[in-house]
Amino acid sequence: MFEHIKRVPGDPILGLIDAFNKDTNPNKVDLGVGVYRDDHGTTPIMRAVKEAEALLVKNETTKAYIGSHGDPRFGKAVLPMVLGDDSPVLAANRASGTQAPGGTGALRLAADFIRVHLPGKGIWLSDPTWPNHLGLFEGAGLKVGKYPYVDAENRLDFPAMMDAIRQIPAGNVVLLHACCHNPSGFDLSAEQWQTVLDVVRERDLLPLVDFAYQGFGDGLEEDAYGARLLAEQLDEVLITSSCSKNFGIYRERTGCLIAVAKDTEQMENVRSQLAITARENYSNPPAHGGAIVAEILESAELAAMWRAELTEMRDRINGLRRDFVEALQPFGLAEKFACIAEQRGMFSYTGLSPEQVETLRSEFGIYMVKSGRANVAGLSRDNLAYVAKAFAAVSS
Ligand code: PMP
Repeated sequence: MFEHIKRVPGDPILGLIDAFNKDTNPNKVDLGVGVYRDDHGTTPIMRAVKEAEALLVKNETTKAYIGSHGDPRFGKAVLPMVLGDDSPVLAANRASGTQAPGGTGALRLAADFIRVHLPGKGIWLSDPTWPNHLGLFEGAGLKVGKYPYVDAENRLDFPAMMDAIRQIPAGNVVLLHACCHNPSGFDLSAEQWQTVLDVVRERDLLPLVDFAYQGFGDGLEEDAYGARLLAEQLDEVLITSSCSKNFGIYRERTGCLIAVAKDTEQMENVRSQLAITARENYSNPPAHGGAIVAEILESAELAAMWRAELTEMRDRINGLRRDFVEALQPFGLAEKFACIAEQRGMFSYTGLSPEQVETLRSEFGIYMVKSGRANVAGLSRDNLAYVAKAFAAVSS
């Protein structure tokens, strides 16, 4: 029965990790894989997470199921983080949180919910977007459309984006990256979010806001601007929040699908359906990551420690962005790559071609995704000048 099944190539990013590990170049630099790195090239466990885990081990009394919506403590802690402590949406009790296995799990819940409850509706994704979006939504049986996001000069093409979104038929879903757009790093300004809001309202679209990097751009509150604006101004919004990056708990699979509805009654109706969606997918989400997040956010002391560590990570990335552009100055390339300092989050679209990316790998041991996406967190004080020199060599 399995004879017809063909082998497919593995995930190109995983292939990149493999090639990087095998590379004997002592100067090799990994700008490929999408996890945060510190100056030593490691992905550390945050101190607040370690402390929360110690408390959990000590105080946990049961491993019984936590229910399809997950740990209520997690929901209570994450909703204000995403929507704001003084959120009118929370005051009106019109937002529901369903803990999910990572941001990916939350997206899949959203996709299944859309397929079942908005039958025949499709979802429009930015082009480019996180590659898994496509497989995930198509896999869930949704029709997928695209709107342009980056122009040929490697700039955010907001007019083209909005022209395309204006063409989406009413009642369909548009996916928006809340901040730290993956893969481009180009984010929307407050004014641009306002335009998105106006068009979404005018066209009667349902926004699905993918919020995978809260705190990695300009700050926990600043990064939430667009998500909060839409949630406060619209009757209906879906938000998928991931705790993988901002708590550094990638493998604990911790995320949340937030469903904002017109009023409490409709929110409770949607919530009851989401319990079924979750149950039919995986029954209950894994508990550990949600418990870590709740433990941290419920404790003033741990929350302050976590925020300080998150600030450190964000400042490191944004500092590297500026320093890298400065390191390109002597080669006359600071202007060409100025966008790297303006982009936000871990990723940058560098504008390098697949050929240039290949030369960086073969001649300099610098590993990036073929699209020209670089993980800025893979840079460090030690390799910055080397990478700048290599960029100059392939750009000449
Ligand atoms: N959305 C985007 C845009 C992402 O970049 C990622 C992770 N790379 C996710 C969602 C999923 O995150 P998680 O690891 O929490 O499933």
